[in-house]
Amino acid sequence: MAAKPIPDLMAKLVSLSKRRGFIFQSSEVYGGLNSCYDYGPLGVVLKNTVKNIWLNSMTREHDNIEPLDSSILMHPKIWEASGHVSNFSDPLVDCKTCKARFRADQLKTATCARKPSLKASECGGEFTEPRNFNLMFKTFMGPLEDESAIVYLRPETAQGIYVNFLNVMTSCRHKIPFGIAQIGKAFRNEITPGNFIFRMREFEQMEMQYFVKPGTDMDAFEEWKEKRIQWHLKLGLKKEKLRFHEHGPNELAHYAKAAFDIEYEFPFGWQEIEGVHHRSNFDLSQHEKFSGKRLSVFDQETRETYVPYIIETSVGCDRATLTLLADAYDEETVAAKDGEEAGPRTVLRFARHIAPYKIAIFPLMKKEPLMEKAQKIFADLRKTWAVEFDEVGSIGKRYRRVDEIGTPFALTVDFEDGVTIRDRDTMTQVRIDDSKIRDFFEKEFLRV
Ligand code: ATP
Repeated sequence: MAAKPIPDLMAKLVSLSKRRGFIFQSSEVYGGLNSCYDYGPLGVVLKNTVKNIWLNSMTREHDNIEPLDSSILMHPKIWEASGHVSNFSDPLVDCKTCKARFRADQLKTATCARKPSLKASECGGEFTEPRNFNLMFKTFMGPLEDESAIVYLRPETAQGIYVNFLNVMTSCRHKIPFGIAQIGKAFRNEITPGNFIFRMREFEQMEMQYFVKPGTDMDAFEEWKEKRIQWHLKLGLKKEKLRFHEHGPNELAHYAKAAFDIEYEFPFGWQEIEGVHHRSNFDLSQHEKFSGKRLSVFDQETRETYVPYIIETSVGCDRATLTLLADAYDEETVAAKDGEEAGPRTVLRFARHIAPYKIAIFPLMKKEPLMEKAQKIFADLRKTWAVEFDEVGSIGKRYRRVDEIGTPFALTVDFEDGVTIRDRDTMTQVRIDDSKIRDFFEKEFLRV
């Protein structure tokens, strides 16, 4: 059965993220800086989980994929070679009535600033002619602020991979095919950022470029397409909320042989969360041309020299994090029973390997010998799992708190022998002997 849509989900996610320390508006005490966000304590753990799973899925699961951490500031010629200086722009229009600024290609989906119930294309406002707006942030390197000192904040991490392709190949003694995986910040002066952390001006990407021999490229492309959708499913996302969107001839870059986006159905519609692109040999050929250095490889067996083709997988860490939050968010009404408080509850139904905390420990009261026993269990379990200790408020209130951050289990210590373990999703409770606590969690977390 398809999950029921949750009214005002985005507003609820923003509010929960702030309340529970996932994500805060940047520079909030100064009124906020539009399109920039800060990750709070739980947000850091959640985003790092996403990054670790991604990097492991690349470098641990493939002998021939290596990690890289290239610098954000790079030689400005890189952005000429890549086409970003001349082409990385969006068509911008201004509404002459309300002065709001839009991407010309998004008027049908953007909200009118004056009449929020209408789309920008429907409000009758007159727009200026579209003009191209380059999305790269410029700054100056060194003390002089002139043309020769211009450098850019990278708008994607991929270029750092292309220009290090031979360094990695030779230092790691790889042969084609092999890949390079990188996680890092990227910056785009987006015309219409929005939808919380979906479209920001400073964000993080996880990009992998796979270098292949022409002729083997389409097989590699199909393989990566499948691997990447499986990766999202393994995060626990609902299958019916994920789909591929194939780039038609009008969307495809002139050099690209094929491109698919992986899309997720957000409350604001189906949107790209990852691109899987066949980039032909465009990037390396461009860097050969602009740098004057050879970026080709020699095949010992066939005695051929060629510039490898590239299959790219590129996913935003922030979009992946937002996807997890949106997918996990649920609300229901609960009856008073077994310590549960009657009324509405909000629960993040994260998969167990995603939840920032795995177990919460509650002494029923802030009294001995309960506190000492609970602390002992806490000290033992936290050697293996991320465990939280909470002794404040009624058990019902404590359940609500841990439900909101998606903790799969709450363990309560009372005056009897043994403990009670409550499951986040079913709210059922089991009584476990003190000596079986560790066994219980080992079995449960193995079941992931
Ligand atoms: P969109 O069409 O949404 O602008 P794009 O096609 O420009 O995205 P790519 O250049 O393919 O995006 O970037 C790869 C990934 O980086 C995207 O799938 C997305 O997850 C992430 N990403 C791109 N731009 C942003 C942004 N402004 N804020 C957050 N994440 C972003």
